[in-house]
Amino acid sequence: MRINRALRVSVGAIALALTAATAAACGGGDSKSALDNAKEGKLTIGIKFDQPGLGLRNKDGSYSGFDVEVAKYVAGKLGVKTEDITFKEAPSAQRETLIENGQVDYIVATYSISDKRKEKVDFAGPYYIAGQSLLVRADNTSINGPDDLKGKKVCSVKGSTPASNIEKNYPDTQLQTNDTYSLCLEGLKGGSWDAVTTDDIILAGYAAQSAGSFKVVGKPFTTENYGIGLQKGDQELRDKVNDAIETMIADGSWKKAFDDTVGASGYQAPTPPTVVRY
Ligand code: GLU
Repeated sequence: MRINRALRVSVGAIALALTAATAAACGGGDSKSALDNAKEGKLTIGIKFDQPGLGLRNKDGSYSGFDVEVAKYVAGKLGVKTEDITFKEAPSAQRETLIENGQVDYIVATYSISDKRKEKVDFAGPYYIAGQSLLVRADNTSINGPDDLKGKKVCSVKGSTPASNIEKNYPDTQLQTNDTYSLCLEGLKGGSWDAVTTDDIILAGYAAQSAGSFKVVGKPFTTENYGIGLQKGDQELRDKVNDAIETMIADGSWKKAFDDTVGASGYQAPTPPTVVRY
């Protein structure tokens, strides 16, 4: 009898301690799950703020881009209206941490699904397939692909897959990493770097914005499966987000969102990908 009571007390204490530990692990953020937040009618979604056509914070404080449209569509399927979404900037190197800390409910930010990232977060999708490419000044004729990068000053972003690909597979490149691609663009314009490297669709957005100053060169040389980053282990959320992506593709909203955003500058919508449930 006495043993039983002691056991019960200690089990209770462990449960309490676990609750406290979970809350602490979510420190600074919201300890509620994304689906709990959605039930209350609110979501915080991580996007890029400086990638035209994909995730952009406009001067009037509104947000536009394909990722923004995907984020809104998924939120709608989770029962949350666009006006009840808080968009938060999710720079490449901070995405896993933002999810792990519960500072965002999910991330739609040109976020490639990778095994390394899957150690910390889960992904729904893919909802788009991009490939790493190169952006140079319009008058550049010496860089036409990654094999031309030897000794060249190339800018990419910290914590991005294109930066690690260059470090690993093109070690003779003088790689510089910034926090955002827009900083890379300024340096390319000013002559600090010879090229900027990231996904083709991101570079196309910058080229379209710059009216003839830059060009995207060569063929894409990696495969970047864009996923929606989620809290690791939240299978219910992942299933629901995967369902939403599939519906978005099936009902024509995916194509319309693409044509209205990235497609507005002439970029052709590819065939949408198939969601992979791992
Ligand atoms: N898709 C790549 C990545 O997830 C590059 C784009 C980005 O940095 O957002 O790292």
